[in-house]
Amino acid sequence: MVVREIKLVGDPILRDKCSEVTDFESAKQVVVDLKDTLQEFRKKNGFGSGIAAPQIGVSTRAIYVSTQEFEGEMLNPKIIKHSKQTALFWDECFSFEAAFFAKVKRWVSIELEYQDLSGNRKTMKVTDEHLGTLLQHEIDHLNQILFIDRIVREGEYILSCNAWKQLGKPLKVK
Ligand SMILES: [Zn+2]
Repeated sequence: MVVREIKLVGDPILRDKCSEVTDFESAKQVVVDLKDTLQEFRKKNGFGSGIAAPQIGVSTRAIYVSTQEFEGEMLNPKIIKHSKQTALFWDECFSFEAAFFAKVKRWVSIELEYQDLSGNRKTMKVTDEHLGTLLQHEIDHLNQILFIDRIVREGEYILSCNAWKQLGKPLKVK
């Protein structure tokens, strides 16, 4: 079990360009580390569904996702189609110590292609909002985009983690 340190906002690695996975053999260790680090975070904090390689300090296009709908690695994931429709979704991120939630604009459904650890190419249609927005969040990490970059500017919504737990409803922050 290898639990890696989670890189926090301000660490330049979160804004470094990620390279495509071409050596699937050496990607195995990255995937194991992503899985272990995600599981440890979830054990400590009681939530957490996905993690991207830059968050453990590796600039490579790999993510690991653990939800009821899908569990596993996605290498070189790419959104190939998306709904015209967007909506506002609550989002948060380990790299901000999950200290606050913010409403961000995301596509309602997506279709993506990715590769598994054997290099097999796969496609997936995602209409489930939790998995769909999670995948958009993790793929954003591979493109050096953090969720704060997508906060809706007008009438933006931000909620501290404690407020989220206590109130369960959005606070409007100006
Ligand atoms: Zn994140």
